[in-house]
Amino acid sequence: QVSTFEDGRKKKTLVILGSGWGSISLLKNLDTSLYNVVVVSPRNYFLFTPLLPSCPTGTVELRSIIEPVRAITRKCSAEVIYLEAEATEIDPINNKLTIKQSTTVHSGHSGTDTGSSKPTVSEDISTSLQYDYLVVGVGAQPSTFGIPGVAEHSTFLKEVSDSIKIRRRLMEVIEAANILPKGDPERKRLLSIVVCGGGPTGVEVAGELQDYIDQDLRKWMPEVASELKVTLVEALPNVLNMFNKKLVDYTKQVFQDTNIDLRTNTMVKKVDDRAVIAQTKAQDGSSTTVEIPYGMLIWATGNAPRPIVRDLSSKIDEQKNARRGLLVDDKLLVDGSNNIFALGDCTFTKFAPTAQVAFQEGIFLAQHLKRLDDIESLKQKISAPGPQDNVDRMSKKLVKLESSLEPFKYNHQGSLAYIGSERAVADLVWGDWSNVSTGGTFTYLFWRSAYIYMCLSVKNQILVCLDWAKIAMFGRDISKE
Ligand code: FAD
Ligand code: NAD
Repeated sequence: QVSTFEDGRKKKTLVILGSGWGSISLLKNLDTSLYNVVVVSPRNYFLFTPLLPSCPTGTVELRSIIEPVRAITRKCSAEVIYLEAEATEIDPINNKLTIKQSTTVHSGHSGTDTGSSKPTVSEDISTSLQYDYLVVGVGAQPSTFGIPGVAEHSTFLKEVSDSIKIRRRLMEVIEAANILPKGDPERKRLLSIVVCGGGPTGVEVAGELQDYIDQDLRKWMPEVASELKVTLVEALPNVLNMFNKKLVDYTKQVFQDTNIDLRTNTMVKKVDDRAVIAQTKAQDGSSTTVEIPYGMLIWATGNAPRPIVRDLSSKIDEQKNARRGLLVDDKLLVDGSNNIFALGDCTFTKFAPTAQVAFQEGIFLAQHLKRLDDIESLKQKISAPGPQDNVDRMSKKLVKLESSLEPFKYNHQGSLAYIGSERAVADLVWGDWSNVSTGGTFTYLFWRSAYIYMCLSVKNQILVCLDWAKIAMFGRDISKE
């Protein structure tokens, strides 16, 4: 579809890949009347990931933290086309994108939707799109570091389908163990939940699982609840390494008080269908191999690039050394390209792969694309016939505009994490002048308010508050989905 501005200039086609923190922030802040905007994502909704760890146990319902892409595009200043598909190939020489129709949202290893056994409508519809500008915001997939057995036997926590899978498995192991007599080794194995990775994802999900055991399961199935054990395995000496040491120690203490078995200095080396095999380092430097049987394994060891990102990197010389994500300049332009931008977890920058960064990058890119359009518009005016002094004036303005293109500046507002038993930790930053590190119940209330504030829509804000009110009144539901 060719559309033009009033001055006859052809509108450029801007294709945005993904419907996550980066792409949706871009879309919400972009003047969509300046481009033909096409969004391509297999996920037809935005997912508020900060509350995803609360979903497997039912503290928050999944429907409360998702927002349809079309609810967002509907509010844009001009038409935005949304295609439910995944990009399978980017041709940076010919500015061409191949997409495959896909209703499947998966974390990236199994290649199938772990939450549903239904086949997708059609796996075969493939087509291509031409773009003038491309924004890659496809996020990352969970890392496995190629550790044998991880992709086959673990559950990740990245997508809605992962949360459904964890919940189903949790209910299955509880009910299966309940049939077996006390003291049976199989009962013990089933009632062992191992979480691998002591970053914020692992810590939050371990805390949420322990809450479920202590606050709900204990009322319904006290014997099973007392045997259900959550073990958090972390390769480094500490969990939550990005937080202040005081908060790391506080988290350790809370885990100890709530019976979460924290195994630091323990690196998982292999996984089979019943146990993780790990190497534990002692203080004297010696190491021993330990085997931890599990009924459910949740794997949360960070991010790895998606295949589409690896494929694009291999086609651009300047990206040949990009192992952990696309390399971009200070205006988020992909190194080695003049019309592909990238933002969020699919890039490798000096910033952590967080929603906070992706969100701010989206706002920046929306402003940058507006400035690029201003430049195009001015160039068109300069090339149109008219008096020379007008041309000189506009040429000066063009030089000024081009030199005033600002780089992306990240404003770190701090880090927050829920650690279970109604406690949270927060490392907050107020400008350049104040840092506050705090943990406890008050921080938990702050954590709740901050996440409510960050929700994308009023609908989500209300639904999340209602979910919290519901569990405060009736407890969490223990039935299978
Ligand atoms: P994503 O939000 O992952 O979005 C990627 C999008 O691309 C998705 O819509 C996906 O469907 C789509 N996509 C994938 N492949 C393709 C393809 N081939 N073609 C087209 N589209 C594709 N960060 C914080 O700052 N605070 C938190 O509290 C926090 N909590 C988190 C909790 C969890 C459980 C997790 C997993 C992450 C959390 N994060 C948090 C990190 C944060 O979610 C990510 O940094 C953020 O989602 C990155 O945004 P993104 O837009 O790059 O990617
Ligand atoms: P992460 O990269 O932050 O942490 C992964 C952890 O796994 C590391 O501590 C690492 O040492 C450990 N690990 C790696 N291999 C291991 C092995 N074989 N055995 C044992 N441990 C191993 O990953 P994440 O927690 O998934 O977070 C990903 C990103 O999302 C981060 O940038 C994080 O800040 C962000 N995030 C933020 C929040 C929040 O702010 N509350 C919540 C979730 C995620």
